[in-house]
Amino acid sequence: MVRLIDEYGAMAKHTIVLIPGDGIGPEVTRAARHVLEASGLSVDWVELPAGASALEQGCENVLPQRTLAAITAHKIALKGPVTTPVGKGFKSVNVQLRQKLNLYAAVRPVRNLPGIKTRYEGVDMVIVRENTEGLYSGIENEVVPGVVTSIKVASRMACTRIARYAFRYATRRRRKSITVFHKANIMKMSDGLFLDCARQIHEEEYPNIEYEELIIDAGCMRLVQDPGRFDVLLMENLYGDLVSDLCAGLVGGLGVVPGSNIGDEAAIFEAVHGSAPDIAGKGVANPTALMLAAGMMLDHCNLPDLAARLRTCINETLNVDKVRTVDLGGRSNTTEFTRTLVKRIANS
Ligand code: NAD
Repeated sequence: MVRLIDEYGAMAKHTIVLIPGDGIGPEVTRAARHVLEASGLSVDWVELPAGASALEQGCENVLPQRTLAAITAHKIALKGPVTTPVGKGFKSVNVQLRQKLNLYAAVRPVRNLPGIKTRYEGVDMVIVRENTEGLYSGIENEVVPGVVTSIKVASRMACTRIARYAFRYATRRRRKSITVFHKANIMKMSDGLFLDCARQIHEEEYPNIEYEELIIDAGCMRLVQDPGRFDVLLMENLYGDLVSDLCAGLVGGLGVVPGSNIGDEAAIFEAVHGSAPDIAGKGVANPTALMLAAGMMLDHCNLPDLAARLRTCINETLNVDKVRTVDLGGRSNTTEFTRTLVKRIANS
């Protein structure tokens, strides 16, 4: 295999935990693995299970201890989506990973891909989502039969941490503005605290970044009217989840939007989409979102040239070779797309 001289000038070998996950997860992670290997990245994969597939493989639970331990040890993972049962069953593997590894910032860039026509042009925004608390705290109780509560947690520590992360991110990436989506007119204490923390970080640490607050319902309307006006969006956990899928719809769908879950000690890169049971096993999944997440991972590993090459090759596969999966109006399947991209990146 070609060995890459990395930006440090060394023959760096990277150890990356690979989690295939459920549904279309194994299909898109296999595709990303082929492409990264063809790029010349020198990598040791540590492939480990998580999700419903972990149980099928005889693991003791959906998030095996050895998977968690490997991410802790190697600090980087590329992950396929995992299925979470609705209304019953085990706690979401994603929520467990984010909480146990303290991956407090979900970062999701939403951009038009060159050549992919959608209703909107000029979309280039980044969603920064608080990833550890809010309504994802999992604290639910039946008060009396027929009455349940679900507790939304907001702490000054976590709200300040995510606000500081978003402003630092905006500054480093030369972004101009941050818009906070909130519902502090109704959740006066929890969303009120989120706003307090964001305002404080803006005023005391990053006054050069423009700052705006929008009530989330009006914010969603503005997003579909004129997404090009937004730059960095900052919000708590549940809003970030919903707005991510809404924004994916603005730029071609879930097949093209990547994401990362960043903490101080580890990071997990994945697509925004889920395990897509409706198309699992059919070989038609678009692996672009996970490939773009792999690009974010390369940037995180301090390999910006390789990340840029990967993005260029994805664009050329879509627009020069005109190989596109069905969700983007094409006729190709996952394997054809991956084969074309592998050829491009191996020869680039
Ligand atoms: P989904 O994102 O899996 O699918 C929504 C729609 O988008 C489906 O029609 C699907 O076919 C399509 N789609 C998604 N990814 C695609 C791709 N790469 N190429 C082409 N089409 C694609 O959402 P869902 O159906 O609501 O959720 C399915 C499961 O995934 C649930 O169990 C949910 O909890 C889980 N989920 C996991 C993650 C994660 O692991 N990060 C994220 C979201 C949802």
